[in-house]
Amino acid sequence: MSTPGPFLHQLVGSMSQGAAGNPTVAMIEAAFAHHGLHWRYVNMEVSPADLGTAVRGAKAMGFRGFNCSLPHKVTVIPHLDGLGESASVMGAVNCVVRRGEDLIGENTDGKGFLKSLEAIIDPRGKSVVLFGAGGAARAIAVELGLAGTRRMTIVNRSEARGAELVSLLRDKLKLDATLVHWRGDFSIPAGTDIVINGTSIGLYAPEARLALDLDSLKPGMVVADVVFSPVRTRLLEDAAARGCRSLDGLGMLVNQGVVGVQYWTGINPDPAVMRRALEAAMGV
Ligand code: NDP
Repeated sequence: MSTPGPFLHQLVGSMSQGAAGNPTVAMIEAAFAHHGLHWRYVNMEVSPADLGTAVRGAKAMGFRGFNCSLPHKVTVIPHLDGLGESASVMGAVNCVVRRGEDLIGENTDGKGFLKSLEAIIDPRGKSVVLFGAGGAARAIAVELGLAGTRRMTIVNRSEARGAELVSLLRDKLKLDATLVHWRGDFSIPAGTDIVINGTSIGLYAPEARLALDLDSLKPGMVVADVVFSPVRTRLLEDAAARGCRSLDGLGMLVNQGVVGVQYWTGINPDPAVMRRALEAAMGV
């Protein structure tokens, strides 16, 4: 293990609003340090009005890339030179990568989820129930579709938002996708392999519960949560008690960082080092 030297050989960053205290900085810099890369990852607070100027500035200053979070995930697109496949399908970018002279927009949220999922189940040919149709759910749905998932049921409170995601999955990925308007406890259909909470229910709220008939969770199902704080959400505890295999949201967060570091540097960083740094930064 070595620490960054006095020279800033390469820069990557994060463009967001309210960027202070972003725990992913510690995670990404831990990877750089562990692998002896003299790189820095810096937070930059960028207002929507300044986004185009900031992107041109990052390019002019030779940044290898940057993450962007809300409110820039969609509005950054016109300022880029191209998009990766999943970012193009979902119309949102959270990771920009310099390839030659071009800045290319990628989306690593869904890829991070997929990487974490693939450690316990191959999603090809599987049947999935996904709660939510916001940014995280869209990213996951598109990536699972590209990875060969057979069926997807989107369960969402807002019917219009859910319908938009189902249309995208059907039209752009030719996926067998259906919408359930979420009212009352939802019962997971028999034959479902993977259940995912892609909503913000449970974030910083350990007691919050998903409207879900827990008796419909069967042993052998994989139950995943995008919520990373608390790490063991009520859903994951309930699922484990019914014999399901569970997957926490911290794995997704770590793996989107892993994919970002791979894109920017070309190395395969050690996820355990990154997870430890993230846990320490988040105090979990
Ligand atoms: P969005 O605001 O885009 O979407 C929120 C989703 O949650 C919508 O589907 C919304 O439904 C649903 N929702 C929120 N509250 C309720 C409720 N009380 N009842 C029913 N549905 C509800 O947020 P994001 O998709 O960006 O983020 C969602 C979660 O994912 C957050 O907790 C975020 O921290 C987490 N996340 C985790 C990542 C990771 O790496 N682990 C990465 C990115 C996000 P509706 O459409 O009806 O409003």
